[in-house]
Amino acid sequence: MKKSELETMRKSFNTVKSRSDSIKESPSTKRLVKRVREIKKFSIENKDELINQLLESFSRNDIECKMADNSFEALKIIDGLLDEFGASVVAKAKSNTLGEIDLKNHLKEKGIDVVETDLGDRILQLKKVDNKPVHPTGPASHLNVSNITDIVNESLDVNVDPVPREIMEVVRKDVLDRLKYANVGISGANAIASEEGSCVMVHNEGNISIVSLKDLHIIVAGIDKIVPTLEDAISVSKLETIFATGNYVTSYMNVISGPSKTADIEKKLLKNMYGAERVVVILLDNGRSEAIDECLYCIGCGNCLINCPVYNAVGNEFGFNNYLGGRGVAMSKFIEDDETCFNSGLYMCTLCGLCTLNCPLSIPTNDILENMRKLSTDAGFYPKAHGKIRDNVSKNNSPF
Ligand code: SF4
Repeated sequence: MKKSELETMRKSFNTVKSRSDSIKESPSTKRLVKRVREIKKFSIENKDELINQLLESFSRNDIECKMADNSFEALKIIDGLLDEFGASVVAKAKSNTLGEIDLKNHLKEKGIDVVETDLGDRILQLKKVDNKPVHPTGPASHLNVSNITDIVNESLDVNVDPVPREIMEVVRKDVLDRLKYANVGISGANAIASEEGSCVMVHNEGNISIVSLKDLHIIVAGIDKIVPTLEDAISVSKLETIFATGNYVTSYMNVISGPSKTADIEKKLLKNMYGAERVVVILLDNGRSEAIDECLYCIGCGNCLINCPVYNAVGNEFGFNNYLGGRGVAMSKFIEDDETCFNSGLYMCTLCGLCTLNCPLSIPTNDILENMRKLSTDAGFYPKAHGKIRDNVSKNNSPF
């Protein structure tokens, strides 16, 4: 990342920090933190039972559910569904899981126009190069209004002034024009309720509502998003909102529990009234079953990032794909392999522990990375200039 981008990112992070401190420290947030920790503990310890219950609930609700062991399987399922619907344009909402499986690039290679509906993500998409997000909920926090104006003017061939409202309006019109041709929407989920078979999604822009109104709504979520009940799913989503944005709630909270339907004419069931006629949920494992429990407590708020000295110094070079910072480095070991973990910045971490102190779930990311370093060193990996793997360690000799 450029120096100016890092400065803008740090400024954005400071704005979030200053506005959120009192909410994070409030008695109700402290109670919520305790509750969510218990919910996640129960969910991790009863993962298989919750998955089985969820499959029954989805079936009762007419939601199709498919399990994917890895990114390849998830993308194959999505390809099949898009072929069925003859989709050439897809409406996409912001989702770390969709970033994890690299959906956008995969569909781009197949000639499908993926339209990001979140403003920050859309700006990065228009940027075309060096467009990795810098935060799970503030993907373009490193770009100032002048950078964004240049990106929008160049890529949309317009001449907008560097005024946030004008930029927003131009991008919104372009996105909505493109979405007229989309019959499929793809999103993630913030949490999934096993008992009710409901997917909870929080957002401020209203874009997930648009995505869910397409004929087919595909939801891709990690198995770590499953919690026992709808109340639990809302608690998790609320805590994520508090620590990601400094607000108690987002403007919108969608709860999707089935396809759009009506029985208002002679009690005959008709689907696809306004929303999707088919809802398909893809539950992604991708290393989660192998991950250590503490990694699965994460709710994706990104509060560890804004307080991480290394992240503030180097930005999104510290982390794995769109799983940024120390927690991303830890997850890369399970999603990919030890070599990826090493190259994602295993030795960049200062082990200062600020991530743990600022994590609502107290995930001991620094301890996790310290343990991973021991394994890494034992195996012959150690840091060198630019963090590359020691040349003379062949993969064959490595215990990884
Ligand atoms: S590790 Fe903690 S602070 Fe970081 S994103 Fe996950 S829940 Fe939030």
